[in-house]
Amino acid sequence: MNNDPGIICFRHCSAKNVFCFRVPATCPMCSSEIQNFITDPFRVPYPFANAAHSPTSVVIRPLRGSFLDYNVTSDNLHIGIVDSTGSILEFDKEGLIKNDTARWTDCIALEIIPAAWAARWDETLLLMSNDPKWKSVYYNAISMNCFNFVLEFFNNLGYMDLRFESKEDLCERLILLKMHNAIRYISLYRALKDEEYLLLDYHA
Ligand SMILES: [Zn+2]
Repeated sequence: MNNDPGIICFRHCSAKNVFCFRVPATCPMCSSEIQNFITDPFRVPYPFANAAHSPTSVVIRPLRGSFLDYNVTSDNLHIGIVDSTGSILEFDKEGLIKNDTARWTDCIALEIIPAAWAARWDETLLLMSNDPKWKSVYYNAISMNCFNFVLEFFNNLGYMDLRFESKEDLCERLILLKMHNAIRYISLYRALKDEEYLLLDYHA
């Protein structure tokens, strides 16, 4: 199970979307009893996935806590790789860690390669998992961390232009671009958390 808070969106009248956790009996915009909708209530897609159910992906989560409490400016991200069978591999101060599944239930999962590359993906991961370079003694929070592992993984994999010169390059081209949707969801959740509903302009 993941931690989807279940944000619902609907539109009853006028140019506002209503976001809520439970559809109210009366419309917060026009105060009339809700009989029907302009946009039927739907669940806002939860942008986080269970890593174990996201084969051949790159997975990202906050180092501590969950994305729902994530602070973009002060919290560090942690990154790992999932093989084609759903096994998660990550590098941290303990060295390589396999299948710490409980901590990866709500992560951003980036599926990057086509199915034809799955065997090569697994082979690259297997080679690296046997490399003594990723023993705990070589870990360094700044210069040799989870991002170095993923950086080297992509440089070994050699898929299209997914080779990276540095961790900054990897973050910019691979991660930040893909995080916008998640950040939007987090902001929406925070704004709504202590409210009954939230009214936002409607954009078709
Ligand atoms: Zn209304």
